[in-house]
Amino acid sequence: MPTSLDHDLYQKNKKILDFIEDATSHADEIQKNVLAEILSHNANVEYLQRHGLNGHIDSETFKKLLPIISYEDIKDDINRIANGDTSPILTSNPISNFLTSSGTSGGERKLMPATEEELGRRYFLYSLLMPILSQFVPDLEKGKGMYLMFIKNESKTPGGIKASPVLTNYYKSSHFLNRPYDPYTNFTSPNEAVLCLDSYQSMYSQLLCGLCQNNEVLRVGAVFASGLIRAIHFLEKNWSLLCNDIRTGTLNLLITDTSVREAVMKILKPDENLANFIEFECSKNSWQGIITRLWPNTKYIDVIVTGSMSQYIPTLEYYGNELPLVCIMYASSECYFGVNLNPLCKPCQVSYTLIPTMCYYEFLPISRSNDPLNEKEKQELVDLVDVKLGQEYELVVTTYAGLYRYKVGDVLKVTGFKNKAPQFSFVCRKNVVLSIESDKTDEVELQNAMKNAMAHLVPFDADVLEYTSFADTKTIPGHYVLYWELNLKGSKVIPPCVFEDCCLTIEESFNSVYRQSRVSDKSIGPLEIKIVEKGTFDKFMDYSITVGASINQYKTPRCVKVGPLVELLESRVVAKYFSPKCPKWVPGHKEWNNGN
Ligand code: AMP
Repeated sequence: MPTSLDHDLYQKNKKILDFIEDATSHADEIQKNVLAEILSHNANVEYLQRHGLNGHIDSETFKKLLPIISYEDIKDDINRIANGDTSPILTSNPISNFLTSSGTSGGERKLMPATEEELGRRYFLYSLLMPILSQFVPDLEKGKGMYLMFIKNESKTPGGIKASPVLTNYYKSSHFLNRPYDPYTNFTSPNEAVLCLDSYQSMYSQLLCGLCQNNEVLRVGAVFASGLIRAIHFLEKNWSLLCNDIRTGTLNLLITDTSVREAVMKILKPDENLANFIEFECSKNSWQGIITRLWPNTKYIDVIVTGSMSQYIPTLEYYGNELPLVCIMYASSECYFGVNLNPLCKPCQVSYTLIPTMCYYEFLPISRSNDPLNEKEKQELVDLVDVKLGQEYELVVTTYAGLYRYKVGDVLKVTGFKNKAPQFSFVCRKNVVLSIESDKTDEVELQNAMKNAMAHLVPFDADVLEYTSFADTKTIPGHYVLYWELNLKGSKVIPPCVFEDCCLTIEESFNSVYRQSRVSDKSIGPLEIKIVEKGTFDKFMDYSITVGASINQYKTPRCVKVGPLVELLESRVVAKYFSPKCPKWVPGHKEWNNGN
């Protein structure tokens, strides 16, 4: 019998789904209005006046006068705001806080301006997620979500403005902390555990509460895949302590934060059976399917595995016994962008529908195929509703929080349309990760090359758990180094020639400028794979966190530069292999001769 609560929920979900239907159907008008609204509201700001916009709110004048920019172009403006200048520089609304991006500029984290009003808009995007999911997964309101959520220390700029990662800001906001009861935001983690700055205490208490309520958990998640895998590794190390707490109903004394202790003690009850069950499952040799074993009612894993996180897919499939991996949202410190309307699709098919009310979007076409764009096409940015199916673009946004024609740095590919709004797969960060001289290897090439190389490990029941790369220019000529942490699932020994084949396969997979440099110019030496000890990338992450990375937003950098991280990796190398010969390269293509 449906209850009135069911009915309310149904109505609420319907309202959200109607909103998506409407916003995507009128994407063009909405985009025009969004731009006009941003420009009229901010007509008096210094940045727009500096570029002579003079109160115009139409897209033609806007596009003619405003340059496409990256962070460096507004760094001085941002610094003025950070240093206490409260005049309307980028926005007429006051900047309420800065969001610190995982991207850096000159070694410093980028500071993204935020206003109260804009944060409300972002948080609205969260409210779209569960109604979308509930169309595909029934009864999600009947249980809880076990989400691992962490915050980081806030800092203050010299002008007294708070700066923190976007999720810290969200978890500390009243939107999150004072949320009224809603079955879709009913989490196993008490707020106090989420707000605990000590990452050990926070993780321990969140896992403990998740285990205590294991039968109620219907979904398990973290923001990025790396965070969830970190939680599973934590559980591997700490399950016997956790079991002990559950058996006795007392909390480990390592949890010293009194508010966390109080909150956990409201959930923790002595439960011999549950402790025995967890102990039985965790002490088995294999941890395959551990998520479904410990949380047997889990319907999906909510975690981002698109982009640089895609290499975690096999590990999560292993721990999750092939539970669907749901990538529901595409967002950044600059702005929140879109949602996946088909959340149960395979990770490789994930597309995000950009929500037209979030900001004004433009797209800079880029070409990476054999079908180069002409000069005019390269320069011309297109509007949201004018992108072409199959084309890749760099995302450029104008936000309510003071970014005008700002390059986010992400490359997206059009995969389809929801009504008039395009859907995009995330291709990569537009960055060059490796370069010795004229060669430029980006994250996608590296990721593809890794995928090809890993095929050599399959017969040995092994894969690469984590990796990063380094352009080693100390050797002459310089060469690419890949640090690999292996995941050995069987006991088969991998002979050196297999790793050498991996080196060569990676080289064969790289672009022609790289191969020309190896073969003809001999300006790059043979590629090297260095195997590092188990646990190295956990240490790597720990180090990154101690110097300021946030656990939620942490992504293993796919490339490292000389410094402490390389030293850490080098201190844990257990074997080294080089490419045994040059990759194939045939002269004759325009690109190959242009590698000046
Ligand atoms: P941050 O500014 O630290 O919040 O990082 C934002 C960046 O994370 C985006 O610009 C993307 O490069 C990446 N990102 C965010 N969401 C996704 C997603 N769903 N899939 C792939 N990459 C993502």
